[in-house]
Amino acid sequence: MSADPIKLLKERGFDKSKWMQLPRDVVIGHDVIGQVPSVCEDLKLGSSALLISGKGTMGLAGERVRQALGNDCEVKVLIAEEISPSVIHQAEKAASDADFLIGVGGGRVIDTAKIASYNLDRQFISIPTAASHDGIASARASVPTGEGNASLEAQPPIAIIADTGIIASAPHRLLAAGCADVISNYTAILDWELAHRVKGEPMSEYAIALSKMTAEILVENAQIIKPHMEQSARFVIKALVSSGVAMSIAGSSRPASGGEHKFSHALDRLAPGKALHGESCGIGTIVSMYLHGGDWRSIRTSLREIGAPTTPADLGIDDAVAVEAILMAKTIRPERFTIFDMGITRESAEHLVQMLYAE
Ligand SMILES: [Zn+2]
Repeated sequence: MSADPIKLLKERGFDKSKWMQLPRDVVIGHDVIGQVPSVCEDLKLGSSALLISGKGTMGLAGERVRQALGNDCEVKVLIAEEISPSVIHQAEKAASDADFLIGVGGGRVIDTAKIASYNLDRQFISIPTAASHDGIASARASVPTGEGNASLEAQPPIAIIADTGIIASAPHRLLAAGCADVISNYTAILDWELAHRVKGEPMSEYAIALSKMTAEILVENAQIIKPHMEQSARFVIKALVSSGVAMSIAGSSRPASGGEHKFSHALDRLAPGKALHGESCGIGTIVSMYLHGGDWRSIRTSLREIGAPTTPADLGIDDAVAVEAILMAKTIRPERFTIFDMGITRESAEHLVQMLYAE
């Protein structure tokens, strides 16, 4: 076991640029949570598991997973209310004699399972209870560090079981945030292409094509994303999985994370707890799309149609804080070159906020 699970994650980050690690089983549909045993059997995952869940999500879904596994699998439960190095430690310890891990819940729970399973070299199953961001299917994990959150490379889930009944009953705000995370693929790709032209950064055409297509399908069907409908939940889950696969193909988060994500991380630091990940990414996408000379108005229209916020005020954040976030964006993960590196000044940031978030 490591002294510092997050440090280990960084140290073990072998060159994955030639690796494509993909989920094997993706099960999406009504009541599919009962199919956990079939998935475990199909993937020969073993006979003992650590199930990580949250307090609320355990009652909502975790308990059903435990019951479904019944006598076939010895299940230990860990309730993780937050993600932190000590919780990850706890998970690693609890899973030391388990064959595999299961994360049942939101982003924090799934990321805890993702990091602990990666550090222990075991597989994990992702069972999201909401469709709020693409981390449910990707290799990336968001972990707290001294200065805000960092996004690190771990491993993708071996299986994703997305029960649309459970996901549709989650607050619509979460689903709308998931959509905004997918819509941000548009500007993530433009940033990647920019970095390719300016810095010679290698690109993956396949990852770009998939990521772009995913965002396009979502935007073209924005009118069917409605609160508490299983059909909508299914649609968004497929898009999030598809984004996760694009990242797996790239071997990095580049196809789904550019300047708009750096803006989102900056906003997280400046106004912690105000916005969901996808929400601040959506707001950042509007700025980034404008800077790229693209159709930022149609991005805004799609976000509105889905019910995602489009201005800092929608999130209860002052315009002045958004200005600081635009300026801070380039300092976050500075090796990732984006449009925010192209000479934004305080005056231009103020002008952007005034113009783009006025209505
Ligand atoms: Zn994201």
